[in-house]
This record gives sequence, C-alpha cells and structure tokens, in this order.
Amino acid sequence: CGIVGYIGHREAYPIIIEGLKRLEYRGYDSAGIALFDGSDLKISKTKGKVADLENRSNETISTNGHIGIGHTRWATHGIPNDVNSHPHSSNTGELAIIHNGIIENYESLKKELISRGYTFQSDTDTEVLVNLIEDVKQKENVKLGKAVQIALNQVIGAYAIAVFDKSRPEEVVVARLGSPLAIGIGDNEFFIASDASPFIEYTKNAIYLEDEEMAIVRIGKDIKVRKIKDDSLVDPYIQELQI
Ligand code: GLU
Repeated sequence: CGIVGYIGHREAYPIIIEGLKRLEYRGYDSAGIALFDGSDLKISKTKGKVADLENRSNETISTNGHIGIGHTRWATHGIPNDVNSHPHSSNTGELAIIHNGIIENYESLKKELISRGYTFQSDTDTEVLVNLIEDVKQKENVKLGKAVQIALNQVIGAYAIAVFDKSRPEEVVVARLGSPLAIGIGDNEFFIASDASPFIEYTKNAIYLEDEEMAIVRIGKDIKVRKIKDDSLVDPYIQELQI
C-alpha cells in the first residue's frame, strides 16, 4: 500500500527503506525492493515488516545502487507471502514493477498472455501488468514509457505504479489512477512516493500526479507528464512543500 523510489547520485537503499517505514501507517502485510547497481537488478522481498525486509536484504543482496523502487503490499489478489510480494519482474527479467491498487480485468489479460507463452510465478494481478507491458514493448517495438501507456489503456482498475527497465537504467516510469503518487524533484535526482514524507528532507519541490496521468522520470531531463488516454502533454504544477 506504499510506494517509494529513488533515482540519482545517492545510495538508493537507505532512502527507500526509511521511506517505506514512513509509509507504514498506511498498513501492509509484505515489503520489497528492487535495486539496480549499474548491471544487475536485485530484488529482495518478504512477507512481514520493513524490518524483516532489511534483515533479508542484508543476507541476500548487495544493497548498493543509485536507482531503486520499494513497496509495501496490502494483498488484494494472492495471499500475503514472499512470492506475491512486490516488486514483480517480467518473464525476461528486464522489467520490474511496484503497484498499489487492483487490476480488475487481470484474469482475461493473464489468459491471453499464457496463450502466448508467458508464465507466472505469483497469484497477483500486478505480475500480469508487468508482463503485459513487456509484451506491448516487444510487439510494438516501443520504449518503456510508450509501452506502459499502451498497456494501461487496456487495463480496468486502479493503480499507482512505478516501472523500471534494465535497458533504460536512468529512468523510472510512473502512473496513477485512484492511488496517490508524488514525485520529489531534487538537484539532478528524483524521488517517487505515495506521499511526500519519504523525501521531505531532500527536496521541497514536488509534483502530485493527477488521476489518469503518467510521467517519465529520467536523470538529466525535465519530467514529462502526459495523459494516459490521449497522450497529450500536461504542464506539471510543481508545488512547494511546507514542513
Ligand atoms: N493488487 C496488488 C496485489 O495484491 C497490489 C496491492 C497493494 O495495493 O498493495 O499484490
């Protein structure tokens, strides 16, 4: 039920872990993180508390990397267990996603993907979405942002998502419909979170996505916000946060 992401020059892991702790008030049953260290995408996730995630991560992955996404899950599809925890990766292992909300038509999308050879590890609606994005990316030969947009136009439901693609390692694509999503804008670094509490000490400038908007958050670039439905560019309102 909480989302945190970081992309920039700092170590992502402590920012994401601390951020997830600040979102604990939202309630959750599992927690997870995906970190990119420049070559490998490392995923660590577990049923339980953020403190359990820290223990697991310290034992199983190297926690360095300047880009990452983290999640606290409140299970809606699939019981709370390690496999159903987020992040979920696509069949190729190229994409990782975190998601708050529900993909209502996931069953029909899943059937369609299975009929074309996709396999699934978890019982979640979210794993269907990440593979749908991958499928669109390959079929249409488009970049991550466009693939996310096309996939979301096939989805019925509610979401805040953050998606990472190993082949575009300076970028995270985010989108929102029905669940909150804020982007903190620092000095050549960006923060992503369900609310501003995970990044308030790093920056006072934030964009709150509106429903049916998506954004490409990319190092060295201004944030591009678009309407998911018709692809029109939105002039994002950068809010100054009060402490
Ligand atoms: N529907 C997703 C799941 O059950 C996301 C739940 C959430 O909002 O944390 O995994």
